[in-house]
Amino acid sequence: MFRCGRHSCKDYKEYKDILAHTLENYSLRSFTTFKIGGKARYFNVCESIEALCESLGWCTREGVPWFVLGNGSNILVSDKGFPGLVVKLGKMFKQIKFHEDTVEVGAGVLLPVLSRYFLEHQWGGFEFMCDIPGTIGGAVRMNAGTKEGEIKDQFVLALMLTPNGEIISIDKGGMEFCYRKSSPEHKKNIVLGAQFSFSHFSERHAIREKIKQIVVARRQKQPANRRNCGSVFKSPSGSQSAGWYIDKAGLKGARVGDAMVAFEHANWIVNVGNAKAEDVKGLIEKIQHEVFKQYRLKLEREVIYAPDDLW
Ligand SMILES: Cc1cc2nc3c(=O)[nH]c(=O)nc-3n(C[C@H](O)[C@H](O)[C@H](O)COP(=O)(O)OP(=O)(O)OC[C@H]3O[C@@H](n4cnc5c(N)ncnc54)[C@H](O)[C@@H]3O)c2cc1C
Repeated sequence: MFRCGRHSCKDYKEYKDILAHTLENYSLRSFTTFKIGGKARYFNVCESIEALCESLGWCTREGVPWFVLGNGSNILVSDKGFPGLVVKLGKMFKQIKFHEDTVEVGAGVLLPVLSRYFLEHQWGGFEFMCDIPGTIGGAVRMNAGTKEGEIKDQFVLALMLTPNGEIISIDKGGMEFCYRKSSPEHKKNIVLGAQFSFSHFSERHAIREKIKQIVVARRQKQPANRRNCGSVFKSPSGSQSAGWYIDKAGLKGARVGDAMVAFEHANWIVNVGNAKAEDVKGLIEKIQHEVFKQYRLKLEREVIYAPDDLW
């Protein structure tokens, strides 16, 4: 789908195309599942690797910070927005190609969409993806997953664009996947696509049944309010979940502004109205403070703060 090689950013001296397609002061709110966040100074949907290269080259030359936004399902964008360029991957990055025992997936493909293709091709073992609302790019970065499986399980390699305009291939070892993260060494690279290997053949009805069970179970314990970012904290080591500690600390329903700890699942924060990023951050600090006070446990955040965690 994509080939390794050098797409030197220096080849794009004029940066004419990028400037023509870049929007200014563009609200990011609707691009996040929280429906929270200020404006990006610059915003660009890139439809090709060349356009991505050109964008990064322009940022390097002008000293403009940038980051790539997936489906915005694990990110809290500051109320002040992002003082640089936010890049989203366009249609070209939404391709899926099945081979005999591998599949190549563009970084812009959503996991629930991909899981329908696995059903169609009768590839079992990927059912865990069916209800995670992220893109392959974000999922590789986060090693997204559930108790049923994780991105790393059948991962073969990812093709990435470096800030120097080089396309590199990183295998599973190089990704250093662990619980909800991958190697920080690749933090500044853009995932263009990933390859996964065949696990096992499954009958369609069996895959469909498994997906149904997963979705039903998740709907029962997840909040009905979809303006959230999934689990806010990573599972601590030990037998109890982050939600258990938050619940026992008496924080279900706790609020800061319009950010509220969900009653259905204490590890989820929902935007019940017009929550600000500062409200969510305040609530996260309150939870960490209370849980530490009562259990001497430091809950580690899973949701990413933009720009704080990115630059
Ligand atoms: C209702 C709900 C349920 C969820 N359930 C789960 C779950 O069961 N398991 C789970 O693991 N997560 C879950 N999540 C969290 C989230 O869906 C995952 O973390 C997902 O992988 C994030 O992908 P994204 O495309 O939305 O990334 P974003 O939130 O847009 O970005 C997350 C990070 O990835 C980076 N990124 C995005 N695209 C790329 C790219 N192409 N190249 C390099 N970096 C990139 C961003 O810069 C950012 O640092 C849930 C979220 C919600 C809202």
